[in-house]
Amino acid sequence: MILYNAHIVSHSIELERGYVEIEEGKISRITKGFPNIVAGTDIDCEGAYIFPGFVDTHIHGGNGVDTMDADEKAFKILCDYEYSHGVTTFFPTTVTASFERTMNVLKVLKELKDKEGFENIGGVHLEGPFLDRKKVGAQNPSFVSSLDEDELRRWFSLKIVKSITYALAADPENRIPVLCEEYGVKPSIGHSDATFEEFERCYALGVRHLTHFCNGMSGLHHRHVGLVGAGLLYDDVYVEIIADRVHLNDQMLRLIAKVKEPSRVIFITDAIRASGMKDGEYELGGLKVRVVKGEARLSDGTLAGSTLTMEKAVRNYNDVTKLPLRTCVDAATYNPAEFYGLKNIGDIRVGMQADLVICDAQTLKVLKTIKRGNIVFQWIDGVP
Ligand code: FE
Repeated sequence: MILYNAHIVSHSIELERGYVEIEEGKISRITKGFPNIVAGTDIDCEGAYIFPGFVDTHIHGGNGVDTMDADEKAFKILCDYEYSHGVTTFFPTTVTASFERTMNVLKVLKELKDKEGFENIGGVHLEGPFLDRKKVGAQNPSFVSSLDEDELRRWFSLKIVKSITYALAADPENRIPVLCEEYGVKPSIGHSDATFEEFERCYALGVRHLTHFCNGMSGLHHRHVGLVGAGLLYDDVYVEIIADRVHLNDQMLRLIAKVKEPSRVIFITDAIRASGMKDGEYELGGLKVRVVKGEARLSDGTLAGSTLTMEKAVRNYNDVTKLPLRTCVDAATYNPAEFYGLKNIGDIRVGMQADLVICDAQTLKVLKTIKRGNIVFQWIDGVP
């Protein structure tokens, strides 16, 4: 299959008029100009962008379903929803819950991963339950707990967890980074009121990631720079960004773009089951969430995840920060793939897996999504 008449934008290459050839699920050629011969199965992109498929490493749900539903039908809906927004790899993300409930989610996902129709499940992000009550955000406080090493080992032993968000308050002995190292999981600090100095202790143990940067963490005070200060100061620390212009306002997005090393910015949606749905009442981890004009909040006004999609995150960041589109695309593709060591995805290079998204050149609306060389989503006559 050849995808031609396209503007190719990725970490390794940008071609204003070019084409990509796919053979046996892999990218076999990337060429400037137009192909000499095209077949009926080839795709005329009509000037649209081709990006690497998006990678969303923090997403709870969408289209009415949630990771905690732990149900095959729900995950099928979620996988398809992700494809419809160009996401070819995602980490279903848990919320604080009982040990058994989280275990059940992990077992179901372990069964489904790599099954036909579920290929975009790339692993699991555990958000909690080892969090700081002071920064609980929209996580259900009933299930917030201190580290239970045995529980964590049992979850990690299933070999599906790729990432865990935790707070130092729940792990005063700094055991989580050590366990993560043992099981090949990436630790990330979030829902944490830690000081800059406390963060440095985790940094010394290899922690290089902050969950939904600025949200649910100690803020920037001129004598106590906290986790926000740590994320801005340490060039090698990756920061997750919810670029919906609600979780972070435009000034903060611009500040991050100005100060932060761009290769360490990772877009996430943190989307919940209300994403892709109408405004109304929804549920997150047993808490009631009200969505008004796409903003999801608890009754006390606390933001409760988002209704963001990845193509919108790229567009928002590009619009607000004026950083080159290629830099913004990297934050949705190359940067997370690099951080999590996801091989053969996140870039457009010969030999890589053909995980691609075709987006409208003006709006970035997702027109087609390709996973391992197969079309898994296409926008037809305005009907997704
Ligand atoms: Fe969170």
